[in-house]
Amino acid sequence: MTVEPISVGLVGLGKIARDQHVPVIGRDARFRVAATADPSGACLDGVPGFQSLDAMLDAMPEVNAVSLCVPPQVRCRLAGAALRAGKHVLLEKPPGIGAEEVEGLTELARSKDVSLFTAWHSQFAPAVAPAKEWLSGRVIQAARIAWKEDVRVWHPNQEWIWRAGGFGVFDPGINALSIATMIFPQALALTSATLEVAEGSETPIAAKLAMTAGNAPMEVEFDFRKTGKQIGEIAVDTDGGLLLLSENGAKLNIAGPEVALPPWDEYAGVYARFAELIAERAVDVDLLPLRLTMDALRRGNYVACEPFL
Ligand code: NAP
Repeated sequence: MTVEPISVGLVGLGKIARDQHVPVIGRDARFRVAATADPSGACLDGVPGFQSLDAMLDAMPEVNAVSLCVPPQVRCRLAGAALRAGKHVLLEKPPGIGAEEVEGLTELARSKDVSLFTAWHSQFAPAVAPAKEWLSGRVIQAARIAWKEDVRVWHPNQEWIWRAGGFGVFDPGINALSIATMIFPQALALTSATLEVAEGSETPIAAKLAMTAGNAPMEVEFDFRKTGKQIGEIAVDTDGGLLLLSENGAKLNIAGPEVALPPWDEYAGVYARFAELIAERAVDVDLLPLRLTMDALRRGNYVACEPFL
């Protein structure tokens, strides 16, 4: 029996849609890109393109799933419209600008009997599952997270990231937190946060967080000004030695030696999970990374830094 692929409407045809969603869907027989929507009118060759989600939904009833690759400020409003239209929805990270709005979507998805997926792509990095498994049997003594990227490389000319709800350095930082919430056996909590903000920006460019993983102290540093070698590391001191997850989860060392891992293909994992959820009309909503981030943004001590923008 031939199974029809799931027809995806890609909304927000920007960097991540083009870098990952389009090629990964192209390699996954369970899906096809049926339509796109982007206010600029940008589209893909041979694929119907619209300037809004509403126009896409009106014209293309065959779209049965929507991937929202828009900036976070507009994600939940669009997700609500897609769910009300009876579509399965994949939310790029972060799933919204507050946990409450995503909780509302969860109820809506259940009432419409469709899938909703908070797609934390970093949780599909190859080091994450083996790190989680190894840490589950250890006593955690202390941990350090360093996630430092060059915003000009990863977010060229993206103004939304500096505006309220754009998360600033927490845009990559929340990826680290999405891994941490998954691999640590204990609950994570924030103790304090210092957030640096550059003139002209409404969101932090750097952050230092003091956190705990159970009883163990955890130091966290995020910085968007890192040129040259990029850093995405989680180091965990345990009773069995040091676990070092590095290269944003592409590399893992446990008590010294490097662990053999499959190649990095986070978005293949994201879409495999989305296919499973759709088959079961299930909801997979993980709000922990967003709650920790909102806590830091709410409670942090904001300080001015050198001009950057
Ligand atoms: P981007 O390049 O700015 O793309 C976002 C796109 O969404 C833009 O084309 C934008 O159009 C469009 N858009 C804005 N409002 C819209 C609306 N109401 N309806 C339809 N389209 C709309 O941003 P990005 O880097 O792809 O990031 C998007 C999301 O993916 C963010 O939440 C980010 O955290 C996440 N993400 C990004 C990366 C990365 O490497 N950049 C990696 C993983 C996840 P205009 O430009 O005309 O407003």
